Amino acid sequence: MTSSTPTALAILAHPDDVEFTCAGTLALLRRKGWDVHIATMTPGQCGSGELPPAEIAAIRRKEAAQAAATIDGAYTCLECEDFFLRRNPETVLKVIALVRQVQPTVVFAHPPLDYISDHETSSLIVRDAAFWAGVPNIKTPGLAALSYVPHLYYVDPMEGKNLYGETVMPRTVVDISEVIDTKQTMLVCHASQREWLMTHHGIDEYTAAMRSLGQERGALIGCAFGEGLRQHLGHGYPQNDLLAEVLGVRITAPAAPS
Ligand SMILES: [Zn+2]
Repeated sequence: MTSSTPTALAILAHPDDVEFTCAGTLALLRRKGWDVHIATMTPGQCGSGELPPAEIAAIRRKEAAQAAATIDGAYTCLECEDFFLRRNPETVLKVIALVRQVQPTVVFAHPPLDYISDHETSSLIVRDAAFWAGVPNIKTPGLAALSYVPHLYYVDPMEGKNLYGETVMPRTVVDISEVIDTKQTMLVCHASQREWLMTHHGIDEYTAAMRSLGQERGALIGCAFGEGLRQHLGHGYPQNDLLAEVLGVRITAPAAPS
């Protein structure tokens, strides 16, 4: 099974995706003694209207590492190409190797449907890698296959809505009220994104956007701030809601299909 210390591994597409979504849950798990590992598929080398790719990538790797360090977490960048993320053997093997190295108890991924394909492709890659990390005939040098399938949770899509603008209802809501300031501190580490998000994505005050969704999710369970999650419950995956057991979260109505 997993190593003696339970470990959370979040693998999302870009630096700052974790800080918009599951950072509060990670902070709570860290408080409970879990190891936390944050990974991004790309260094976000397209995330600037002014700096060239190599320069903004270097800045964003540092910002992501700083955000992870806020909760004494590790950070890994898998160095794929921003905006052109593809599910191919090289990329999937990178993620399988990371899963085998970290030996996570729980993996967090983007939801299958989100506003850009990098998120959706990342979701599919991570979902497969979490399962295939236990297949011995898939070789990763120096890293043995896992003997278990980790729990897999999908974080909220951006703004809690799918690409049709429909609200995506979470199945599990974590009360993050006590760590909302920590989550904001982590998000603010991504200083390079503030102006970019405002000019390109139309997100004014990115911390306000994060808190707004947190309040919406919190309202579902009657607390100040929450984070929504949906667990992958397909064949072969663990069926118990481990986060509910560990964090005492409350469960909302069944998630709507999306
Ligand atoms: Zn992203």
